[in-house]
Amino acid sequence: MQDTDTFVNFHKALITLSHSATFISRERNKKLEALTDLCAELLHVDRVSIWQFPEQRDRIEAEWLHTPEQVTGNAPILHKAGNPACFSALESERILSVPDAQADPRTRGFTPDYLGPKGIHSMLDAPIFDGARLSGVVCLESTAYRQWTLPEISFVVAIADTVSLMNTHEAWLDSKQALEYATRYDSMTGLLNIKSLRDRISYLIDKLESRGLGSLALVWVDVDRLKSINDGLGSQVGDSVIEEIGQRLKKINVPGKDLLARIGGDEYALIIRNQTHPDTLDKTAAKIRHEIGKPIRLNGHSITVGASLGICYLADDCDSTEDLLRGAEAAMYNAKNEGRGRTCFFDSRFHISARSRFELENELRTAIKEQKLEVFYQPITKAGGASMESVEALVRWQHPQRGLLSPIEFLDIARGGGLMYDLGECVLRRVCEHRQQARAQRINLPVVSVNLAPEQVLVAELPGLIRTVCAEYDIPVNTLHFEVTEDAIQGDVSAVTSILEELVADGAQLSIDDFGTGYSSLSRLKGLPFSRIKIDRSFIGNIPDDEEDCAIILSILALAKGLGLSVVAEGVETEAHEKWLCEQGCDYLQGYLYSRPLPFDQLLDHFFVRA
Ligand code: C2E
Ligand code: CA
Ligand code: CA
Repeated sequence: MQDTDTFVNFHKALITLSHSATFISRERNKKLEALTDLCAELLHVDRVSIWQFPEQRDRIEAEWLHTPEQVTGNAPILHKAGNPACFSALESERILSVPDAQADPRTRGFTPDYLGPKGIHSMLDAPIFDGARLSGVVCLESTAYRQWTLPEISFVVAIADTVSLMNTHEAWLDSKQALEYATRYDSMTGLLNIKSLRDRISYLIDKLESRGLGSLALVWVDVDRLKSINDGLGSQVGDSVIEEIGQRLKKINVPGKDLLARIGGDEYALIIRNQTHPDTLDKTAAKIRHEIGKPIRLNGHSITVGASLGICYLADDCDSTEDLLRGAEAAMYNAKNEGRGRTCFFDSRFHISARSRFELENELRTAIKEQKLEVFYQPITKAGGASMESVEALVRWQHPQRGLLSPIEFLDIARGGGLMYDLGECVLRRVCEHRQQARAQRINLPVVSVNLAPEQVLVAELPGLIRTVCAEYDIPVNTLHFEVTEDAIQGDVSAVTSILEELVADGAQLSIDDFGTGYSSLSRLKGLPFSRIKIDRSFIGNIPDDEEDCAIILSILALAKGLGLSVVAEGVETEAHEKWLCEQGCDYLQGYLYSRPLPFDQLLDHFFVRA
């Protein structure tokens, strides 16, 4: 009966301790201290210690010691080699209850070095299990000869179980942390991931809404041409570039900087709070681009990359997390389309919801059917002489509500709606109509360069259609030049080749458009009937300062010469661009320096004298 009371009291005391809030919130050593103190006090023992087996079971190490004397220096370690009997007892028996430790065969090995000097006569050890694995022992030592009672033994087992629970809980916390890490962080750069970004934006939006104060903007950063680094130097180099840029963005100091996340392959996003005046954001964006643009040194290479940035504000028509993300991404794509290496702010006209996308597709279908698309023209001039060599026809859509739309605003929709072939026919008819008008006014129009979409070049009827339309307006095919992008000539080129050859046989000339952005090499294009290359404008923007771009242009020029092709540089905006390109022997130039794309009437007014 007395045993039962003691039993209950011991366990009550342990439960009171181990379930108290202060115990649970303490760090491990404080918990071990509290447990061993309680044990020493209730059982009147001199020494209580907690031991751990390391991974290899060749020794046991003290983790916590409750002793009458001060313990200094390293925690004691007992080696299996010196005490094999004790080790096998610990490993095989659940509980080691030893009234006379200096004589007991299982423990007497410790007598000379340990039990003797400390005057220890009895021991009680209880195993600590982690699951099925023995991971340690709770050890009680007394200077008296002691027959351990059942309540005492059961109490020590309970202490051991408490330690085991602590271990399990800690392991769970660790794995929870690891899981938390995996769900919130990007493993490659250690930056937060898109989930964290979303959570943070939602949190900030809620806060702004409830307080009505402050502002928010999201900067979307996309590294330019990472794919060509991956393709040319290997994906490991590409990964290192991504990591390095992540580190730079982490360190960068810009006003209002909040959370930075890596949101995809080579894309990062930065939340800006309060410091969202356009001028401030312009400076922030310039600083980010400057930081990314510094050379990256990687095992002997020096790599320079640029970045396209899109910025979106929280506003009335853009007031949710998803709006902000979509807006910033759309603005970034706009920056890419405008020639990369620049920053664009989100314009709600690009912000087309699924519903209005559907509407827009229908409206576009009608506009194409009714020949309502417009064509603007941009001159292509001879390098040096500045005289117009040809004009490029660029489609526009005068939308009744949305105003004049540029191709980036509706070509995706046309593509998605399978309208590219018809759109191309509509543009061709417009071009023929204009030429007819010019002829009527006795204006001698140069060759007109018309863009052909991949969807057109893959259709066997295309040359026939072009002949028919030209015949309808009585326009010779040889007044046309067609521009085809590299992506039209991927995969099986034989079908495309015969279509292109037919166009050339009819008298048209062919250019490769946006050269350098795709992945085809010039030599692969060798067998195709092109007579001209247009270097993509993203390579022009930073010349003559950007050495890599200059090097790319020079190699394109050299290869083109070797293949007997002429070269057009697009996006020529400054005299510095012009000067450098002329010096390098580029044949033709096109860009805002000479003229923006103009409506047909304005083209005639600006550049032609009516007879
Ligand atoms: P693209 O063929 O590369 O056309 C040149 C684009 O560069 C035009 O954009 C032009 O306005 C722009 N641009 C010209 N000079 C400069 C400059 O100095 N600086 C800058 N930043 N940009 C300059 P646009 O008219 O918006 O056309 C965009 C793209 O849409 C075209 O790129 C072309 O791929 C496509 N596109 C245009 N019209 C047609 C068409 O009739 N059919 C097809 N399939 N695609 C078209
Ligand atoms: Ca073009
Ligand atoms: Ca182009």
